[in-house]
Amino acid sequence: MARVSSLPEPRRSALLTGWGRTSPTRAEVLAPVSAAELDRALCDPPSRGMVARGLGRSYGDAAQRSGGRVIDLTGWTDVDLDIDTGDCRARAGTSIDTLLRVLVPRRFFVPVTPGTRFVTLGGAIAADIHGKNHHRRGSFGSHVSSMVLRTADGQRRTISPDREPALFWATVGGMGLTGVIEEATFRARPIASSRISVLAERTRNLDESIARLIELDQTAEYTVAWVDLAATGARAGRSVITSGRFAQPDELPKRWVGSPFAYDPGLPIDVPVTPPPIVLNPLSIRAFNEAWFRKAPRRPKEMISSIPGFFHPLDLVGSWNRIYGPKGFLQWQCVVPDSATDVLAGIMRQFTRTGGRSFLTVLKRFGPANEAPLSFPLAGWTLTVDVPVGDPDLPRLLDRFDEQVAEVGGRIYLAKDARMRPELLAAMYPRLAEWQEVRASVDPHGLIRSDLSERLGLS
Ligand SMILES: Cc1cc2nc3c(=O)[nH]c(=O)nc-3n(C[C@H](O)[C@H](O)[C@H](O)COP(=O)(O)OP(=O)(O)OC[C@H]3O[C@@H](n4cnc5c(N)ncnc54)[C@H](O)[C@@H]3O)c2cc1C
Repeated sequence: MARVSSLPEPRRSALLTGWGRTSPTRAEVLAPVSAAELDRALCDPPSRGMVARGLGRSYGDAAQRSGGRVIDLTGWTDVDLDIDTGDCRARAGTSIDTLLRVLVPRRFFVPVTPGTRFVTLGGAIAADIHGKNHHRRGSFGSHVSSMVLRTADGQRRTISPDREPALFWATVGGMGLTGVIEEATFRARPIASSRISVLAERTRNLDESIARLIELDQTAEYTVAWVDLAATGARAGRSVITSGRFAQPDELPKRWVGSPFAYDPGLPIDVPVTPPPIVLNPLSIRAFNEAWFRKAPRRPKEMISSIPGFFHPLDLVGSWNRIYGPKGFLQWQCVVPDSATDVLAGIMRQFTRTGGRSFLTVLKRFGPANEAPLSFPLAGWTLTVDVPVGDPDLPRLLDRFDEQVAEVGGRIYLAKDARMRPELLAAMYPRLAEWQEVRASVDPHGLIRSDLSERLGLS
Protein backbone atom coordinates (compact mmCIF):
# COMPACT_ATOMS: atom_id res chain seq x y z
CA MET A 1 0.00 0.00 0.00
CA ALA A 2 1.27 3.49 -0.85
CA ARG A 3 2.04 5.44 2.30
CA VAL A 4 1.10 9.11 2.19
CA SER A 5 1.15 11.64 4.96
CA SER A 6 -2.18 13.37 4.39
CA LEU A 7 -5.40 11.84 5.73
CA PRO A 8 -8.70 11.75 3.86
CA GLU A 9 -11.28 14.41 4.43
CA PRO A 10 -13.77 14.80 5.93
CA ARG A 11 -11.92 14.11 9.14
CA ARG A 12 -13.37 15.09 12.47
CA SER A 13 -13.17 14.33 16.13
CA ALA A 14 -16.46 12.96 17.41
CA LEU A 15 -18.02 11.60 20.57
CA LEU A 16 -19.49 8.25 19.54
CA THR A 17 -21.90 5.83 21.18
CA GLY A 18 -23.78 2.75 20.11
CA TRP A 19 -27.56 2.64 19.75
CA GLY A 20 -27.99 2.24 23.54
CA ARG A 21 -26.24 5.61 24.05
CA THR A 22 -24.16 4.36 26.96
CA SER A 23 -20.33 4.76 27.19
CA PRO A 24 -19.60 7.65 24.80
CA THR A 25 -15.96 7.89 23.73
CA ARG A 26 -14.11 10.27 21.47
CA ALA A 27 -12.27 9.23 18.34
CA GLU A 28 -10.86 10.67 15.15
CA VAL A 29 -13.43 9.77 12.49
CA LEU A 30 -12.43 9.34 8.87
CA ALA A 31 -15.07 8.81 6.23
CA PRO A 32 -13.47 7.52 3.01
CA VAL A 33 -15.51 7.48 -0.17
CA SER A 34 -12.79 6.50 -2.65
CA ALA A 35 -10.24 3.68 -2.74
CA ALA A 36 -7.40 6.18 -2.27
CA GLU A 37 -9.12 7.65 0.78
CA LEU A 38 -9.67 4.19 2.26
CA ASP A 39 -5.97 3.44 1.68
CA ARG A 40 -5.05 6.57 3.56
CA ALA A 41 -7.53 5.90 6.37
CA LEU A 42 -5.81 2.57 7.00
CA CYS A 43 -2.34 4.16 7.01
CA ASP A 44 -0.44 5.16 10.11
CA PRO A 45 -3.03 4.10 12.66
CA PRO A 46 -2.83 5.94 15.97
CA SER A 47 -1.31 4.07 18.92
CA ARG A 48 -4.82 3.46 20.34
CA GLY A 49 -5.74 1.59 17.14
CA MET A 50 -8.64 1.83 14.73
CA VAL A 51 -11.89 0.11 13.86
CA ALA A 52 -14.55 0.23 11.15
CA ARG A 53 -18.00 1.65 11.80
CA GLY A 54 -21.26 1.30 9.90
CA LEU A 55 -24.51 2.93 10.96
CA GLY A 56 -23.77 2.58 14.69
CA ARG A 57 -26.73 0.25 15.31
CA SER A 58 -24.80 -2.10 17.55
CA TYR A 59 -26.01 -1.26 21.03
CA GLY A 60 -22.73 -1.08 22.92
CA ASP A 61 -19.17 -0.04 22.10
CA ALA A 62 -18.31 -2.35 19.20
CA ALA A 63 -17.91 0.47 16.67
CA GLN A 64 -15.98 2.85 18.93
CA ARG A 65 -12.27 3.35 19.60
CA SER A 66 -11.57 5.66 22.48
CA GLY A 67 -8.66 7.97 21.61
CA GLY A 68 -8.09 6.10 18.35
CA ARG A 69 -9.53 6.14 14.85
CA VAL A 70 -12.94 5.11 13.61
CA ILE A 71 -13.35 4.50 9.89
CA ASP A 72 -16.90 5.45 8.97
CA LEU A 73 -17.88 3.46 5.91
CA THR A 74 -21.38 4.80 5.41
CA GLY A 75 -20.29 6.76 2.33
CA TRP A 76 -18.79 3.60 0.84
CA THR A 77 -21.86 2.40 -1.06
CA ASP A 78 -22.61 0.69 -4.37
CA VAL A 79 -24.82 -2.26 -5.37
CA ASP A 80 -24.53 -4.62 -8.29
CA LEU A 81 -27.27 -7.25 -8.64
CA ASP A 82 -27.32 -10.17 -11.07
CA ILE A 83 -31.06 -10.52 -11.67
CA ASP A 84 -30.67 -14.04 -13.11
CA THR A 85 -28.97 -15.54 -10.06
CA GLY A 86 -29.72 -13.09 -7.24
CA ASP A 87 -25.98 -12.68 -6.59
CA CYS A 88 -25.57 -9.25 -5.12
CA ARG A 89 -22.20 -7.54 -4.77
CA ALA A 90 -22.21 -4.40 -2.70
CA ARG A 91 -19.76 -2.11 -0.97
CA ALA A 92 -19.67 -2.65 2.77
CA GLY A 93 -21.21 0.71 3.69
CA THR A 94 -24.38 -0.02 1.73
CA SER A 95 -27.32 -0.20 4.12
CA ILE A 96 -30.04 -2.82 4.10
CA ASP A 97 -32.34 0.16 3.45
CA THR A 98 -30.54 0.83 0.16
CA LEU A 99 -30.28 -2.87 -0.67
CA LEU A 100 -34.04 -3.32 -0.28
CA ARG A 101 -34.76 -0.34 -2.52
CA VAL A 102 -32.69 -2.07 -5.21
CA LEU A 103 -33.70 -5.68 -4.55
CA VAL A 104 -37.44 -5.63 -3.85
CA PRO A 105 -38.66 -4.02 -7.10
CA ARG A 106 -36.49 -6.62 -8.87
CA ARG A 107 -38.20 -9.47 -6.99
CA PHE A 108 -35.51 -10.22 -4.45
CA PHE A 109 -35.05 -9.81 -0.71
CA VAL A 110 -32.04 -9.95 1.59
CA PRO A 111 -31.50 -13.48 2.91
CA VAL A 112 -31.56 -12.22 6.51
CA THR A 113 -32.72 -8.92 7.92
CA PRO A 114 -32.45 -7.67 11.49
CA GLY A 115 -35.19 -5.63 13.20
CA THR A 116 -33.93 -2.45 11.56
CA ARG A 117 -33.04 -1.74 7.93
CA PHE A 118 -30.50 0.87 9.05
CA VAL A 119 -27.50 -1.43 9.28
CA THR A 120 -24.70 -1.70 6.75
CA LEU A 121 -23.57 -4.79 4.90
CA GLY A 122 -20.23 -4.59 6.76
CA GLY A 123 -22.02 -4.40 10.12
CA ALA A 124 -24.31 -7.28 9.12
CA ILE A 125 -21.32 -9.53 8.39
CA ALA A 126 -19.18 -8.36 11.31
CA ALA A 127 -22.02 -9.18 13.76
CA ASP A 128 -23.24 -12.16 11.68
CA ILE A 129 -26.75 -10.85 12.18
CA HIS A 130 -29.81 -13.05 12.50
CA GLY A 131 -33.45 -12.41 11.70
CA LYS A 132 -36.88 -13.92 12.17
CA ASN A 133 -35.91 -16.75 9.81
CA HIS A 134 -32.83 -18.04 11.62
CA HIS A 135 -34.52 -21.40 12.27
CA ARG A 136 -34.81 -21.83 8.48
CA ARG A 137 -31.96 -19.87 6.89
CA GLY A 138 -29.29 -19.33 9.53
CA SER A 139 -27.43 -16.05 9.92
CA PHE A 140 -26.24 -13.51 7.36
CA GLY A 141 -22.68 -14.84 7.02
CA SER A 142 -24.00 -18.17 5.78
CA HIS A 143 -25.28 -16.41 2.64
CA VAL A 144 -22.04 -14.58 1.83
CA SER A 145 -20.04 -16.17 -0.97
CA SER A 146 -17.03 -13.85 -0.86
CA MET A 147 -15.66 -10.67 0.65
CA VAL A 148 -12.87 -8.23 0.05
CA LEU A 149 -11.09 -7.61 3.34
CA ARG A 150 -8.42 -5.03 4.11
CA THR A 151 -6.25 -6.42 6.84
CA ALA A 152 -4.12 -4.36 9.22
CA ASP A 153 -0.99 -4.93 7.12
CA GLY A 154 -2.71 -3.11 4.25
CA GLN A 155 -3.32 -6.25 2.18
CA ARG A 156 -6.49 -6.52 0.13
CA ARG A 157 -7.63 -10.12 0.34
CA THR A 158 -10.52 -11.80 -1.41
CA ILE A 159 -11.81 -14.42 1.00
CA SER A 160 -14.58 -16.99 0.77
CA PRO A 161 -15.60 -20.25 2.43
CA ASP A 162 -13.22 -21.97 -0.04
CA ARG A 163 -10.46 -19.40 -0.26
CA GLU A 164 -8.88 -18.61 3.12
CA PRO A 165 -11.81 -20.21 4.98
CA ALA A 166 -10.31 -19.60 8.44
CA LEU A 167 -10.07 -15.85 7.81
CA PHE A 168 -13.47 -15.78 6.13
CA TRP A 169 -15.22 -17.37 9.12
CA ALA A 170 -13.20 -15.33 11.62
CA THR A 171 -14.48 -12.20 9.85
CA VAL A 172 -18.10 -13.39 9.94
CA GLY A 173 -19.13 -12.44 13.48
CA GLY A 174 -15.61 -11.10 14.11
CA MET A 175 -16.89 -7.66 15.17
CA GLY A 176 -14.67 -5.81 12.70
CA LEU A 177 -11.48 -7.07 14.36
CA THR A 178 -9.94 -9.00 11.47
CA GLY A 179 -9.89 -5.94 9.20
CA VAL A 180 -12.10 -3.61 7.21
CA ILE A 181 -14.60 -5.33 4.92
CA GLU A 182 -14.58 -3.40 1.68
CA GLU A 183 -17.26 -5.27 -0.22
CA ALA A 184 -19.13 -8.57 -0.15
CA THR A 185 -21.21 -10.77 -2.41
CA PHE A 186 -24.26 -12.54 -1.04
CA ARG A 187 -27.11 -14.49 -2.56
CA ALA A 188 -30.43 -12.59 -2.43
CA ARG A 189 -33.66 -14.60 -2.13
CA PRO A 190 -36.38 -14.49 -4.75
CA ILE A 191 -39.77 -13.34 -3.44
CA ALA A 192 -43.31 -13.84 -4.74
CA SER A 193 -44.39 -10.26 -3.88
CA SER A 194 -43.36 -7.39 -1.65
CA ARG A 195 -46.05 -8.18 0.97
CA ILE A 196 -46.02 -10.58 3.83
CA SER A 197 -48.82 -12.94 4.76
CA VAL A 198 -48.79 -12.71 8.55
CA LEU A 199 -50.46 -14.79 11.22
CA ALA A 200 -50.77 -13.02 14.59
CA GLU A 201 -51.84 -14.95 17.64
CA ARG A 202 -51.84 -14.58 21.40
CA THR A 203 -50.63 -17.19 23.89
CA ARG A 204 -51.77 -17.33 27.52
CA ASN A 205 -48.48 -18.16 29.22
CA LEU A 206 -44.85 -19.11 28.65
CA ASP A 207 -45.49 -22.84 28.19
CA GLU A 208 -47.91 -22.07 25.39
CA SER A 209 -45.49 -19.59 23.81
CA ILE A 210 -42.68 -22.15 23.83
CA ALA A 211 -44.85 -24.95 22.45
CA ARG A 212 -46.23 -22.75 19.68
CA LEU A 213 -42.82 -21.44 18.62
CA ILE A 214 -41.48 -25.01 18.39
CA GLU A 215 -44.50 -25.97 16.29
CA LEU A 216 -44.02 -22.99 13.97
CA ASP A 217 -40.39 -24.01 13.31
CA GLN A 218 -41.78 -26.68 11.01
CA THR A 219 -44.11 -24.50 8.96
CA ALA A 220 -43.26 -20.80 9.13
CA GLU A 221 -40.49 -18.98 7.27
CA TYR A 222 -40.42 -16.10 9.77
CA THR A 223 -41.43 -16.24 13.44
CA VAL A 224 -41.02 -14.13 16.54
CA ALA A 225 -42.73 -13.77 19.91
CA TRP A 226 -43.13 -10.56 21.80
CA VAL A 227 -43.40 -11.49 25.48
CA ASP A 228 -45.17 -9.51 28.19
CA LEU A 229 -42.58 -9.75 30.95
CA ALA A 230 -44.69 -7.52 33.18
CA ALA A 231 -47.42 -10.19 33.39
CA THR A 232 -47.37 -12.36 36.50
CA GLY A 233 -49.02 -15.52 37.89
CA ALA A 234 -50.90 -17.70 35.43
CA ARG A 235 -50.30 -15.11 32.68
CA ALA A 236 -46.51 -15.00 33.08
CA GLY A 237 -44.83 -15.29 29.71
CA ARG A 238 -47.97 -14.55 27.71
CA SER A 239 -46.99 -13.48 24.23
CA VAL A 240 -48.03 -12.21 20.87
CA ILE A 241 -46.53 -14.47 18.24
CA THR A 242 -46.28 -13.35 14.65
CA SER A 243 -45.25 -15.64 11.86
CA GLY A 244 -45.13 -14.96 8.16
CA ARG A 245 -44.03 -15.65 4.60
CA PHE A 246 -43.95 -13.60 1.42
CA ALA A 247 -47.47 -13.54 -0.06
CA GLN A 248 -48.34 -14.90 -3.49
CA PRO A 249 -49.61 -12.22 -5.93
CA ASP A 250 -53.13 -13.70 -5.89
CA GLU A 251 -53.32 -13.21 -2.12
CA LEU A 252 -52.80 -9.45 -2.34
CA PRO A 253 -55.65 -7.04 -1.68
CA LYS A 254 -57.01 -5.35 -4.79
CA ARG A 255 -55.15 -2.08 -4.25
CA TRP A 256 -51.77 -3.86 -4.52
CA VAL A 257 -52.55 -6.29 -7.32
CA GLY A 258 -51.18 -3.90 -9.95
CA SER A 259 -47.91 -3.33 -8.06
CA PRO A 260 -46.93 -6.65 -6.44
CA PHE A 261 -43.28 -5.62 -6.00
CA ALA A 262 -43.78 -2.01 -4.92
CA TYR A 263 -41.64 -0.98 -1.97
CA ASP A 264 -41.82 2.36 -0.21
CA PRO A 265 -40.58 2.31 3.38
CA GLY A 266 -41.31 6.04 3.80
CA LEU A 267 -39.42 8.33 6.12
CA PRO A 268 -39.15 7.77 9.88
CA ILE A 269 -40.94 10.25 12.16
CA ASP A 270 -38.54 11.72 14.73
CA VAL A 271 -39.16 11.69 18.50
CA PRO A 272 -38.59 14.81 20.60
CA VAL A 273 -35.09 15.06 22.10
CA THR A 274 -36.46 15.11 25.66
CA PRO A 275 -38.95 12.32 26.20
CA PRO A 276 -41.95 12.94 28.44
CA PRO A 277 -41.09 11.63 31.94
CA ILE A 278 -44.05 9.24 32.01
CA VAL A 279 -42.32 7.12 29.39
CA LEU A 280 -39.65 6.12 31.92
CA ASN A 281 -42.07 5.24 34.69
CA PRO A 282 -42.24 1.49 35.62
CA LEU A 283 -46.02 1.71 35.73
CA SER A 284 -46.10 3.03 32.20
CA ILE A 285 -43.90 0.12 31.11
CA ARG A 286 -46.53 -2.24 32.54
CA ALA A 287 -49.31 -0.25 30.85
CA PHE A 288 -47.41 -0.26 27.55
CA ASN A 289 -46.99 -4.05 27.71
CA GLU A 290 -50.66 -4.51 28.55
CA ALA A 291 -51.74 -2.27 25.69
CA TRP A 292 -49.45 -4.06 23.24
CA PHE A 293 -50.88 -7.42 24.25
CA ARG A 294 -54.47 -6.21 23.94
CA LYS A 295 -53.80 -4.66 20.56
CA ALA A 296 -53.14 -8.16 19.18
CA PRO A 297 -56.18 -10.08 17.94
CA ARG A 298 -57.83 -12.36 20.52
CA ARG A 299 -58.03 -15.23 18.02
CA PRO A 300 -55.34 -16.07 15.47
CA LYS A 301 -55.71 -13.67 12.59
CA GLU A 302 -54.17 -13.63 9.14
CA MET A 303 -53.33 -10.33 7.50
CA ILE A 304 -51.20 -8.90 4.74
CA SER A 305 -48.41 -6.63 5.91
CA SER A 306 -45.81 -4.44 4.25
CA ILE A 307 -42.09 -5.21 4.55
CA PRO A 308 -41.46 -2.31 6.98
CA GLY A 309 -44.58 -3.18 9.00
CA PHE A 310 -43.51 -6.80 9.48
CA PHE A 311 -39.71 -6.63 9.57
CA HIS A 312 -38.83 -3.11 10.65
CA PRO A 313 -41.67 -1.60 12.71
CA LEU A 314 -39.24 0.25 15.01
CA ASP A 315 -37.86 2.16 12.02
CA LEU A 316 -41.15 4.01 11.73
CA VAL A 317 -39.94 6.20 14.59
CA GLY A 318 -36.49 7.69 14.00
CA SER A 319 -34.08 7.95 16.96
CA TRP A 320 -36.50 6.08 19.24
CA ASN A 321 -33.49 5.21 21.38
CA ARG A 322 -33.74 8.73 22.84
CA ILE A 323 -36.98 7.76 24.53
CA TYR A 324 -34.93 6.16 27.34
CA GLY A 325 -33.47 9.53 28.31
CA PRO A 326 -29.90 10.76 28.64
CA LYS A 327 -28.50 7.72 30.49
CA GLY A 328 -29.48 5.44 27.63
CA PHE A 329 -30.50 1.81 27.78
CA LEU A 330 -29.16 -1.70 27.57
CA GLN A 331 -30.32 -4.45 25.36
CA TRP A 332 -29.48 -7.79 26.92
CA GLN A 333 -29.67 -10.66 24.45
CA CYS A 334 -28.74 -14.22 25.25
CA VAL A 335 -29.08 -17.57 23.55
CA VAL A 336 -29.33 -20.89 25.38
CA PRO A 337 -29.46 -24.40 23.91
CA ASP A 338 -32.76 -26.29 23.82
CA SER A 339 -31.59 -28.38 26.77
CA ALA A 340 -31.67 -25.22 28.93
CA THR A 341 -35.22 -24.07 28.20
CA ASP A 342 -35.95 -24.24 31.94
CA VAL A 343 -32.99 -21.93 32.67
CA LEU A 344 -34.37 -19.40 30.22
CA ALA A 345 -37.82 -19.64 31.82
CA GLY A 346 -36.14 -19.11 35.20
CA ILE A 347 -34.37 -15.97 33.95
CA MET A 348 -37.67 -14.61 32.68
CA ARG A 349 -39.33 -15.31 36.04
CA GLN A 350 -36.49 -13.62 37.95
CA PHE A 351 -36.72 -10.64 35.64
CA THR A 352 -40.45 -10.31 36.21
CA ARG A 353 -40.01 -10.68 40.00
CA THR A 354 -37.56 -7.79 40.05
CA GLY A 355 -40.01 -5.46 38.36
CA GLY A 356 -39.90 -6.64 34.73
CA ARG A 357 -38.89 -3.24 33.44
CA SER A 358 -38.55 -4.15 29.79
CA PHE A 359 -40.43 -2.24 27.14
CA LEU A 360 -39.74 -4.80 24.53
CA THR A 361 -39.01 -8.47 25.19
CA VAL A 362 -38.50 -10.79 22.29
CA LEU A 363 -38.28 -14.57 22.28
CA LYS A 364 -37.21 -16.48 19.22
CA ARG A 365 -35.90 -19.85 18.15
CA PHE A 366 -32.55 -20.31 16.45
CA GLY A 367 -31.54 -23.11 14.12
CA PRO A 368 -28.04 -24.62 14.03
CA ALA A 369 -24.90 -22.47 14.29
CA ASN A 370 -22.65 -21.83 11.28
CA GLU A 371 -18.87 -22.28 11.15
CA ALA A 372 -17.90 -18.85 12.44
CA PRO A 373 -16.13 -19.16 15.82
CA LEU A 374 -17.51 -15.86 17.21
CA SER A 375 -20.97 -16.05 15.66
CA PHE A 376 -23.69 -15.61 18.26
CA PRO A 377 -26.57 -17.90 17.19
CA LEU A 378 -26.69 -21.54 18.26
CA ALA A 379 -29.63 -23.93 18.14
CA GLY A 380 -32.06 -23.07 20.90
CA TRP A 381 -33.75 -19.99 22.34
CA THR A 382 -32.78 -16.36 22.15
CA LEU A 383 -34.26 -13.81 24.54
CA THR A 384 -33.88 -10.05 24.19
CA VAL A 385 -34.84 -7.47 26.82
CA ASP A 386 -34.58 -3.68 26.58
CA VAL A 387 -33.92 -2.02 29.93
CA PRO A 388 -33.33 1.61 30.80
CA VAL A 389 -30.03 2.28 32.60
CA GLY A 390 -30.34 3.67 36.12
CA ASP A 391 -31.77 0.90 38.30
CA PRO A 392 -28.98 0.27 40.87
CA ASP A 393 -29.83 -3.46 41.04
CA LEU A 394 -29.65 -3.96 37.28
CA PRO A 395 -25.88 -4.61 36.91
CA ARG A 396 -25.94 -7.39 39.54
CA LEU A 397 -29.07 -8.94 38.06
CA LEU A 398 -27.63 -9.04 34.54
CA ASP A 399 -24.31 -10.41 35.83
CA ARG A 400 -26.24 -13.24 37.47
CA PHE A 401 -28.12 -13.94 34.24
CA ASP A 402 -24.83 -13.95 32.29
CA GLU A 403 -23.45 -16.59 34.65
CA GLN A 404 -26.54 -18.76 34.30
CA VAL A 405 -26.37 -18.48 30.53
CA ALA A 406 -22.64 -19.33 30.42
CA GLU A 407 -23.14 -22.32 32.73
CA VAL A 408 -25.54 -24.01 30.32
CA GLY A 409 -23.42 -23.38 27.22
CA GLY A 410 -25.23 -20.24 26.12
CA ARG A 411 -23.86 -16.81 25.28
CA ILE A 412 -24.47 -13.08 25.11
CA TYR A 413 -24.65 -11.27 21.75
CA LEU A 414 -21.55 -9.11 21.39
CA ALA A 415 -23.29 -6.68 19.01
CA LYS A 416 -25.70 -5.82 21.83
CA ASP A 417 -23.32 -5.98 24.76
CA ALA A 418 -22.14 -2.94 26.70
CA ARG A 419 -21.39 -4.40 30.13
CA MET A 420 -20.49 -8.09 30.22
CA ARG A 421 -17.68 -9.33 32.49
CA PRO A 422 -14.67 -10.45 30.39
CA GLU A 423 -14.03 -13.62 32.40
CA LEU A 424 -17.22 -15.19 30.99
CA LEU A 425 -16.24 -14.68 27.36
CA ALA A 426 -14.25 -17.90 26.86
CA ALA A 427 -16.99 -20.02 28.41
CA MET A 428 -19.59 -18.41 26.16
CA TYR A 429 -17.46 -18.57 23.03
CA PRO A 430 -15.48 -21.82 23.41
CA ARG A 431 -13.71 -21.30 20.03
CA LEU A 432 -12.35 -17.93 21.16
CA ALA A 433 -8.67 -19.06 21.16
CA GLU A 434 -9.00 -20.39 17.61
CA TRP A 435 -10.47 -17.05 16.51
CA GLN A 436 -7.74 -15.11 18.32
CA GLU A 437 -5.08 -17.13 16.51
CA VAL A 438 -6.52 -16.25 13.10
CA ARG A 439 -6.84 -12.63 14.09
CA ALA A 440 -3.26 -12.48 15.35
CA SER A 441 -2.05 -13.93 12.04
CA VAL A 442 -3.44 -10.93 10.12
CA ASP A 443 -2.93 -8.27 12.79
CA PRO A 444 0.05 -9.29 14.96
CA HIS A 445 0.47 -5.78 16.40
CA GLY A 446 -3.19 -5.33 17.32
CA LEU A 447 -3.70 -2.26 15.14
CA ILE A 448 -7.40 -2.98 14.79
CA ARG A 449 -9.10 -2.60 18.13
CA SER A 450 -12.40 -1.37 19.49
CA ASP A 451 -13.68 -0.35 22.89
CA LEU A 452 -15.57 -3.66 22.96
CA SER A 453 -12.45 -5.70 22.13
CA GLU A 454 -10.46 -3.94 24.84
CA ARG A 455 -13.22 -4.20 27.45
CA LEU A 456 -13.66 -7.93 26.87
CA GLY A 457 -10.03 -8.80 26.15
CA LEU A 458 -10.92 -10.03 22.68
CA SER A 459 -7.78 -8.55 21.11
C1 LIG B 1 -33.59 -1.51 16.32
C2 LIG B 1 -32.51 -2.54 16.15
C3 LIG B 1 -32.87 -3.84 15.86
C4 LIG B 1 -31.88 -4.80 15.69
N1 LIG B 1 -32.27 -6.07 15.41
C5 LIG B 1 -31.35 -7.04 15.24
C6 LIG B 1 -31.73 -8.36 14.89
O1 LIG B 1 -32.92 -8.66 14.74
N2 LIG B 1 -30.74 -9.27 14.69
C7 LIG B 1 -29.42 -8.95 14.80
O2 LIG B 1 -28.58 -9.83 14.61
N3 LIG B 1 -29.04 -7.71 15.14
C8 LIG B 1 -29.96 -6.75 15.36
N4 LIG B 1 -29.56 -5.47 15.67
C9 LIG B 1 -28.12 -5.20 15.80
C10 LIG B 1 -27.47 -4.81 14.45
O3 LIG B 1 -27.99 -5.59 13.40
C11 LIG B 1 -25.98 -5.08 14.51
O4 LIG B 1 -25.41 -4.46 15.62
C12 LIG B 1 -25.24 -4.60 13.25
O5 LIG B 1 -23.89 -4.98 13.37
C13 LIG B 1 -25.30 -3.09 13.10
O6 LIG B 1 -24.74 -2.72 11.85
P1 LIG B 1 -24.09 -1.27 11.65
O7 LIG B 1 -23.86 -1.05 10.21
O8 LIG B 1 -24.89 -0.26 12.37
O9 LIG B 1 -22.68 -1.50 12.35
P2 LIG B 1 -22.00 -0.73 13.59
O10 LIG B 1 -22.91 -0.79 14.75
O11 LIG B 1 -21.50 0.57 13.16
O12 LIG B 1 -20.78 -1.74 13.84
C14 LIG B 1 -21.03 -3.04 14.33
C15 LIG B 1 -19.77 -3.89 14.20
O13 LIG B 1 -19.51 -4.08 12.81
C16 LIG B 1 -18.18 -3.69 12.53
N5 LIG B 1 -18.18 -3.17 11.16
C17 LIG B 1 -19.02 -2.28 10.61
N6 LIG B 1 -18.71 -2.08 9.32
C18 LIG B 1 -17.63 -2.85 9.06
C19 LIG B 1 -16.81 -3.05 7.92
N7 LIG B 1 -17.04 -2.45 6.75
N8 LIG B 1 -15.77 -3.89 8.03
C20 LIG B 1 -15.50 -4.54 9.19
N9 LIG B 1 -16.25 -4.39 10.29
C21 LIG B 1 -17.29 -3.54 10.23
C22 LIG B 1 -17.84 -2.66 13.57
O14 LIG B 1 -16.43 -2.57 13.77
C23 LIG B 1 -18.54 -3.21 14.79
O15 LIG B 1 -17.76 -4.18 15.42
C24 LIG B 1 -30.50 -4.46 15.84
C25 LIG B 1 -30.15 -3.16 16.13
C26 LIG B 1 -31.13 -2.19 16.28
C27 LIG B 1 -30.73 -0.78 16.60
